[in-house]
Amino acid sequence: MARQDEGLVIGIDLGTTYSCVAVWEEQHCRVEIIHNDQGNKTTPSFVAFTDHQRLIGDAAKNQAATNPANTVFDGKRLIGRKYSDPVIKDDLMFWPFKVIAGADDKPMIIIKHKGQEKHISAEEISATVLTKMRETAEAYLESPIKNAVVTVPAYFNDSQRQATKDAGTIAGLNVVKIINEPTAAALAYGLEKRANCVGERNIFVFDLGGGTFDVSLLTIKGEIFEVKATAGDTHLGGEDIDNRMVNYFVKELKRKNKVNITGNARALRRLRTVCERAKRTLSFAIDTTIEVDAIFESIDLCSSITRARFEELNMDLFKKCMETVERCLNDSKMDKNSIHDVVLIGGSSRIPKVQQLLQDFFSGKELCKGINPDEAVAHGAAVQAALLNKGIKNVPNLVLLDVTPLSLGISVKGGLMSVVIPRNTTIPSKKIDTYLTSEDNQTSVLIEVYEGERKRASDNNLLGLFNLNGIPSAPAGHPLNVCFDLDANGILNVSAEEETTGIKNGITVTNDNGRLSSEQIMRLIQEAEKHRAEDRMYEKKVEAMNALDDYVYKLRNAIKDIDRSSKLRLQDKSKIRVAVTKARNLLGTSDQTETEVFEDYLNEMEGIVESIVKID
Ligand code: ADP
Ligand code: MG
Repeated sequence: MARQDEGLVIGIDLGTTYSCVAVWEEQHCRVEIIHNDQGNKTTPSFVAFTDHQRLIGDAAKNQAATNPANTVFDGKRLIGRKYSDPVIKDDLMFWPFKVIAGADDKPMIIIKHKGQEKHISAEEISATVLTKMRETAEAYLESPIKNAVVTVPAYFNDSQRQATKDAGTIAGLNVVKIINEPTAAALAYGLEKRANCVGERNIFVFDLGGGTFDVSLLTIKGEIFEVKATAGDTHLGGEDIDNRMVNYFVKELKRKNKVNITGNARALRRLRTVCERAKRTLSFAIDTTIEVDAIFESIDLCSSITRARFEELNMDLFKKCMETVERCLNDSKMDKNSIHDVVLIGGSSRIPKVQQLLQDFFSGKELCKGINPDEAVAHGAAVQAALLNKGIKNVPNLVLLDVTPLSLGISVKGGLMSVVIPRNTTIPSKKIDTYLTSEDNQTSVLIEVYEGERKRASDNNLLGLFNLNGIPSAPAGHPLNVCFDLDANGILNVSAEEETTGIKNGITVTNDNGRLSSEQIMRLIQEAEKHRAEDRMYEKKVEAMNALDDYVYKLRNAIKDIDRSSKLRLQDKSKIRVAVTKARNLLGTSDQTETEVFEDYLNEMEGIVESIVKID
């Protein structure tokens, strides 16, 4: 399966809770979802730190209960956000790891690694997950991978998209394109169903995952996919549903057993794990049991929950989903009866009540569940990646059009938001608007660029600002051209120009405050490489220790047998016993001992033993 092509592009769904990687198989003309080293097609977006090593994915999630403070997840909730962002306030209460406000209000995760306290950014966590996905693809393709298409929720703003790109850079990946998750899913879906399309087809994509909720409305016409509207909620998904269940059982424990486990991170983690499992069970069963042995001191949690109770606990969340569905349709000015297909994506879309509410909303229409909801996004990302892979044949000739999720504009007189590019405009998009100076003889104007839907500019998100100086003296009302240029990744360039003099100034909206500088990124790339090297070194050490341990074990058994049949000389026996004791002592000092010492001692021991007996 080796490939020569260094330029191969893979597709990565960097999920809040699970990530998935896929590649276009040129030979078979289809997408291959790649298994990780555990044989799973999705990898938990978890990173854990221990005294000895760093763990990623399944290995990290599996040890979460015993190492909660150093097991980081939900990095995607933090990426590109400020610490003071109200959206993450609730998360801070639920996370068992510590997050503080760093420089520029950037959230920093505090963990202990190899005995030392470290401050880690969300970009680094995402980069670590991306590295794992890259390595998964590299192992499968037997070739280094440099390029990837990475997906983000439709509602990610510029800062979150940029930070995701930075995470790719830290992971040694060139992120050739960032696409919206529901767009990718629709691309995967459209690809499969395209043959059946007659004329124009309107597709509604409903993506309820672990941490985010996205809906989008796409139109497929011939080979063109156009996103007409998107809506969503960056804080609604399976984890919120899990939280409801966790709270329910925390209360039950208080009531029935008079214990409060809220301060006990390990107990909460264990409870969360069983709640998530129970939730999955309730997607096909009407009731299920919940059991956690010794959840708190000697108290066992042994209870049950019905699907009806589960639905009651979450009904407001489910209804909120439907409100978003309605908003998206309103934005697109499309009637729900003109939707041809309603597509379900994201693990939580398997919940029967969610499906029922959605089906009711669309007047009983059959929902499309044909695509594996966990893989559809990566699938679409791989299709998009294939389109970007030069020289790859057999890729359907598609054109993918995306939209901007938030309105973009500038602050004008009275602090009002003047929208230059409205939300749901197809990108890339370039627009020039003319604005007038508000004072006589004004020689300078401040251009403040915002994103958001609020009328007052300051209620929206300030993306950046710059001055246009040297405007010729003139009465108020002198025209200035402001140009908004939004590229295919949703990254914005803004410039302003005074036409008579030709003076011009502008910015690329990079969200400098809170964003990593290029020096920081360089440093993090080096650190990531160091981490990888350290992880590999640690693995080598564990291998060397295991080899020595194995040998000692085999030796003891072999010696027993040999001694029984043909007595060993006392002198030889004692030589072997000394060697075994030395090996044991050495194994007990793993922290201070180098890999080579274990390897050398194994050789030495084999030498000693071979001079006495033959062992296989
Ligand atoms: P994300 O893209 O946000 O990482 P996914 O689309 O992979 O998320 O969905 C993960 C979520 O789906 C988790 O919260 C998981 O508990 C939930 N989930 C997976 N299978 C089921 C199921 N059978 N019933 C209900 N929820 C499920
Ligand atoms: Mg997802």
